[in-house]
Amino acid sequence: MDKSYCKYHLQTPARLYCPSCGIRFCTQCVKLNIDKNPCPICKEDMESIGISNTITPFWERLPRFFSYPTTSIEIMIFLTVLAVLSLGAMVSSKLFILITFITLKYGYVILEHTAEGKLSPPTISASALGKGNNLPLQQVFVFVLMFFIAGWAFAVGTVVGIIALLFILLSVPASVIVMALDKNILKAMNPLTLMGIISRVGGPYFILYGFLLLLFAGAGVAKGLLAPILPMGLFIIMGTFVSGYFTLIMFNMMGYIVYQYHEELGFDGVYEFEESEETGNDKMVPFLSEINILIAEGMIDDAKKRLKWTLEESHLEVLDYHQRYHELLLLSKDKKALGEHSEPYIKALIYSTQPDKTIGKAVEVYADCVKFNPDFSLSQGNDTYELAEAANRKRKYDLALRMVNKFAQRYPNDLNDFPNAFGKQQTKKNPTIPKAYFLAAKILFERKHQEAQATKILTSLLRQFPTHPLISEIKEYLNFIKQRAKQ
Ligand SMILES: [Zn+2]
Ligand SMILES: [Zn+2]
Repeated sequence: MDKSYCKYHLQTPARLYCPSCGIRFCTQCVKLNIDKNPCPICKEDMESIGISNTITPFWERLPRFFSYPTTSIEIMIFLTVLAVLSLGAMVSSKLFILITFITLKYGYVILEHTAEGKLSPPTISASALGKGNNLPLQQVFVFVLMFFIAGWAFAVGTVVGIIALLFILLSVPASVIVMALDKNILKAMNPLTLMGIISRVGGPYFILYGFLLLLFAGAGVAKGLLAPILPMGLFIIMGTFVSGYFTLIMFNMMGYIVYQYHEELGFDGVYEFEESEETGNDKMVPFLSEINILIAEGMIDDAKKRLKWTLEESHLEVLDYHQRYHELLLLSKDKKALGEHSEPYIKALIYSTQPDKTIGKAVEVYADCVKFNPDFSLSQGNDTYELAEAANRKRKYDLALRMVNKFAQRYPNDLNDFPNAFGKQQTKKNPTIPKAYFLAAKILFERKHQEAQATKILTSLLRQFPTHPLISEIKEYLNFIKQRAKQ
């Protein structure tokens, strides 16, 4: 089956398809929902391309099967312990059967686990191994019964017998798979069930079969090579270890084929799982990736509308959304919308949960706005003063001066002033004015060498705000300027 890829992530297999837009999307573009998946562009419901499209075919990841047991230290210990225990089989052959039973039992756990799309090994626990069904015993029972049937078929006729025997041999993996997933003897030996699996998986079933035979033979060959060079005891240990290792690989492979073909097999309960190495590390917020798609399609106005709506209607104060919207407004030179959005965005940055980190961004946004509209200013003096301080810290002295320019005219009154009982606005002056002008004077003197201008501002503050808490500091600074002038 050819893979189809995402329009926006050319390396990533697609997962959803929008028939009305004719576009394929991957799971980085859209978050996958169980019921409905609206197209990020037209909002129509999309079609599933099938998880198989995103799953690496098992024949392309063979090295991973071979290293599967080594990816878990638990498995290595498990196999080692069983191998050492197998020494006792020299005394009692029952022990050998028990070891085989435990290995197979864990094999079924691996098969079921892998079939669900969980690609790292399941933990080995007494409860997982000791759970209810004696699957390996039931499996043996199934095979014995099957060969009994084959014998009966031979009694009918040689051709019939050969066909039955071939079918039984071919359906061994299918039967193991059904046993692991359904835990049902009747199903595991039902020719219709087994034939269904073989035909639905199709050609790859035979590829799997080939690999399983190779693995089976491989374990035998490895043991054959070890036999002449190892002493008996060590050979038993190594032989058991090798057998166990290859057995677990085989179960892992059978589980994987269910995972890969689970849609064809009608096996649900599969996790959307991606192998770590294949997962992109840039997991984008679905909403922003939707915006990116609209931009990629040249639908700038729609992108703006959706961002505006999300920010205003859903009251989601997500700084990333604000930033995206701000960038789009700059990009499309939307002076009007920029004027409306800048203040909420700057406020969100000033009053964020980590203002130290975000206020610098607020200064940049302010600078962007001034570039577009030289008359730009914020509605509140406090915010403006905070920004001017931040701009000063960022050594953007001209911008800071621009922020506090005409501060008293723009923000004349105290924020806490309310009209009095007679409807008259009280005229208490804004206490931030001295702060803002003090900052301006410092910048003018220290950075612009305009001591006359700085002195003029500070003298005027002393006259206008004789009781302000900053006054002593302002006096001190005035003296400092005078001292410097004398030198
Ligand atoms: Zn994509
Ligand atoms: Zn669409």
